[in-house]
Amino acid sequence: MTTIETLRAKLPFPLKRLADLAYNYWWSWSCDRTSLFQNINPDEWQRCGHNPVAILESASYVRLTQLAKEPAYIKRVKALADQLDRYLAEKSPWASRVAPQISPERPVAYFCAEFGIHESLPIYSGGLGILAGDHLKSASDLGVPMVGIGLMYRQGYFRQRLNRGGWQEDYYVDNHFDQMPLELMKNQQGEPITIEMEIRQRIVKAQIWLARVGRVKLYLLDSDRHDNDPIDRWLTGHLYGGNQETRIAQEVMLGIGGVRALKALGITPSVYHLNEGHAAFCTLEIARQEIQRSGKSFYDIEADVREACVFTTHTPVPAGHDVFSSDLMDSYFAHYWPTLGLSREQFLALGARRLGDPWEPFGMTVLALRMCRTANGVSELHGEVSRKMWNILYPDRKEDKVPIAHITNGVHARTWTAPLISDLYSQYLGEDWSTRMVDPKTWEKVDEIPDEEIWWRHQVLKERLIAHTRAKVKMSRQNRGEEQFRIDAADKLLDPNVLTIGFARRFSPYKRGDLLMRDAERALRIFGNLEKPVQIVFAGKAHPADEEGKRIIQRLMEWCKHPDILNRVALVEDYDIYTGQKLVQGVDVWLNNPRRPLEASGTSGQKVCFNGGINCSVLDGWWCEGYQADANGKGTNGWAIGEDAHTSDQELQDRIDSESLYRLLEEEIVPLYYDQDENGVPHRWIGMMKASIKTNSPLFNTDRMIADYVTQVYAPGTSVGAEPIMASVLA
Ligand SMILES: *Cc1c(COP(=O)(O)O)cnc(C)c1O
Repeated sequence: MTTIETLRAKLPFPLKRLADLAYNYWWSWSCDRTSLFQNINPDEWQRCGHNPVAILESASYVRLTQLAKEPAYIKRVKALADQLDRYLAEKSPWASRVAPQISPERPVAYFCAEFGIHESLPIYSGGLGILAGDHLKSASDLGVPMVGIGLMYRQGYFRQRLNRGGWQEDYYVDNHFDQMPLELMKNQQGEPITIEMEIRQRIVKAQIWLARVGRVKLYLLDSDRHDNDPIDRWLTGHLYGGNQETRIAQEVMLGIGGVRALKALGITPSVYHLNEGHAAFCTLEIARQEIQRSGKSFYDIEADVREACVFTTHTPVPAGHDVFSSDLMDSYFAHYWPTLGLSREQFLALGARRLGDPWEPFGMTVLALRMCRTANGVSELHGEVSRKMWNILYPDRKEDKVPIAHITNGVHARTWTAPLISDLYSQYLGEDWSTRMVDPKTWEKVDEIPDEEIWWRHQVLKERLIAHTRAKVKMSRQNRGEEQFRIDAADKLLDPNVLTIGFARRFSPYKRGDLLMRDAERALRIFGNLEKPVQIVFAGKAHPADEEGKRIIQRLMEWCKHPDILNRVALVEDYDIYTGQKLVQGVDVWLNNPRRPLEASGTSGQKVCFNGGINCSVLDGWWCEGYQADANGKGTNGWAIGEDAHTSDQELQDRIDSESLYRLLEEEIVPLYYDQDENGVPHRWIGMMKASIKTNSPLFNTDRMIADYVTQVYAPGTSVGAEPIMASVLA
């Protein structure tokens, strides 16, 4: 088993600090990013999935001693390790000045079923996890005392492979925890710290892994222990795998186990943040511990529990909220409600939308709304939709008085902005642009960046995306056993001089992944135009049970083979953070066309803004707030699909939206892109890139988002006031 100590022992003296860097994901958004690890062995770095512990573990002694005598390399290691030390030791970061009541002794505990920190820690499926990862990173940068609580899945989320018929096949890959940047939490005797829960009439033990995310510690529960029943060892096997039973068992582990883990670790949070309803059982365990401690009744301490808990909801459709049948609740909680001093009826009422209905299932969102002091959606529109959806819990209130507010999501720009663009911002906006990104003034100087300068950088990133796409597609074709000419043809996919659209997200029918192909002839004319062609890169998984989603992927795979537009359409298998980064950094246009209002926020389009890509999206989620138009209704910082025409007739809505999308492409997007000077620089297009950067960047980042959570949710009554929001990114 690799530990930070064994790794340090293995490294030659001048490289020992690499071990500290490898065990803190801070490196992934530091100014150096990946290069220290990549330099060890670029091929191996690729093979091991960008895992810093694995690359150091597998590096040969010859290679390490070679690096250990390169003065330049040693200097870089030392400089970065010193930066990390300063970052970790900083005395009074922003949050400590604004909200001192959230102290390191009483941190915020942030619960989530998935965390998307980095591709080498594959315990995320999509938007929720990436948001949680970005939340922790910005909390760290702003100095908000916070710990994360989640599950460490032995096999994570399913991996995607498409067969020769274009049909998605799912498979799983083992995570080898002992070769990942994870530390097993141990007591003073050197034994793993464990907690116990009763699940399915058996005692299940879980151990706790620590992943360091800058100043934030992320604790991950793991039931894969020898002393558990073989079935229980798989409780933390898969993210969102299995049936309702697995689901409830995992949510017991996350909520109840999470609170017990905090106690076992000696952590007493001042705020429990339930990120989505999955963790809502934690409110029950907080109550149970308080009842045990104080001897009071549930109803006496209920208000105290609510005072400590806050909730963020992410799902705008009723069916997206977890509910469990009363049968299932009986079998998992019959032993538990007596410990709260509650009867079965009283207990089940906590999760019932309507009281007195014996068939009403137990809703996790309902429980969270009942037991939390605040609740919020993740965009303005989503707040509105949520108030309408949950009005039923507050029958004596008008819809607009339902106590669900909103804090619009953002992205951790230091993770998602390409170094090449970051470097440009450093030159023109100031070295400290990323610590002051919430201030609109920081972005005013974007206009001073010469068009040629931003354009060549953008083009290089597009070429990187194309290189990545070709390599991935080639490998997929090889794995599928396609003919050699098809495999070789992957080297000709896409062209850096062609207008490039990106579309990557889960292939749920409501996201309409093939809306652009709705009118085949028109789509062919747009993509296949000889003078002004268009190309598109797709990526995304369909949920394993989602047949319609899989059919959408299959149709897109057909398009990839269409002889009239060969090399203009590509689909990258197995979407993950790495492919996501390449996409958001390299596209000209980011396309998003969900059925409104089903996208709670969306964040991938925000990542695109920081990199100079332009959004073309339905006015849903965050884009409702980001999009700006001139007096004639023409977009000035991007494009709006379908404008404000809404109907409940899906077929009609699809027609309206696809028409609008075709018209935008034909009349605005394509002409603007190909309006280039003699050197191929599209000045008017670049004007729009800059408008997008300037208007969106100060708003849709997690520094602003975390500041909102601090002042409105974690420590209400505090305000940013005289303390401009300032991230610590020590250079
Ligand atoms: C950003 C991101 C997401 C979330 O994007 P949406 O806009 O919400 O679809 C999902 N997966 C990956 C890999 C991402 O990087």
